[in-house]
Amino acid sequence: DEKDEEFMSIMLSDVVTLLNTQANLYNIDIQLDILEEVKVYCDKSQLKQVFINLIKNAIEEMDSGGKIEIIVDAKDERSFVHIRDEGPGIPHHLIHKLKEPFFTTKKNGTGLGLMISNQIIESHRGKLSIKSDIGRGSVFTIELPRSQ
Ligand code: ADP
Ligand code: MG
Repeated sequence: DEKDEEFMSIMLSDVVTLLNTQANLYNIDIQLDILEEVKVYCDKSQLKQVFINLIKNAIEEMDSGGKIEIIVDAKDERSFVHIRDEGPGIPHHLIHKLKEPFFTTKKNGTGLGLMISNQIIESHRGKLSIKSDIGRGSVFTIELPRSQ
């Protein structure tokens, strides 16, 4: 694999630029908040694929528009990317199924995006966690080791 030190903010703004056209069609505003500039040692194309999967999922849940907020932060040696949507949320009893292969609630879904994303994050010694409030939205958090 091809790993290097990469700025989280650059990878994310590349992905946001790529997805903005689709988001705007659905009246969705993607906001990127860099609370701290962090670098991670990673395979850039794999991490961008994770960001694309998560942001596309958020877009696909927000039929009536709204805001997707992406927050980059760090604490000690760990970096965090929070992707917060204003979709319908995920029932508590389904959250543990999301990372399983082929779990989908979409007519043309593959149910592979979150499984693959989770594998990529774990292969970078990171963690993907999911929090959700029915009727308010969901937050997907990617935690990765920060490179100094
Ligand atoms: P797919 O997008 O092909 O369905 P994923 O693995 O990306 O496969 O997602 C699996 C399922 O997890 C989705 O079908 C949906 O039910 C749920 N899901 C994923 N992201 C969100 C989200 N942001 N809000 C609500 N549900 C979500
Ligand atoms: Mg998906």
